Amino acid sequence: MNGLKNLMEDTVEQTLNRLLPTMPNICSCDDCKLDMATYALNRLPPKYARSSRGAILHRFDTLSTQVEAEILTVCVSAINVIGSHPHHADAKPASNSEQSQTAASGQPTANSQ
Ligand SMILES: [Zn+2]
Repeated sequence: MNGLKNLMEDTVEQTLNRLLPTMPNICSCDDCKLDMATYALNRLPPKYARSSRGAILHRFDTLSTQVEAEILTVCVSAINVIGSHPHHADAKPASNSEQSQTAASGQPTANSQ
């Protein structure tokens, strides 16, 4: 909605951006980050503010250490859940490839007539 902003979105994004570099095994592409943010935001209380004045409230004073800890916990589980089941478009096979088709993007197979 125009003029309305969920400040929790920014907080979750900042938390993810802080956590992901410390977890090198977790994919941090935009797709996965969006999935993580969605997961986390669905489990955290929203913090809506009018966006015209939202900048002033951005530090939102009502954020207690308990809420901060909850945000951190939810973000960590979001990273673990999405990280072990990434939905990104060009997902690479994790351990062993299901199909042994090689050169999917390298050499065109049926291009010669
Ligand atoms: Zn990814």
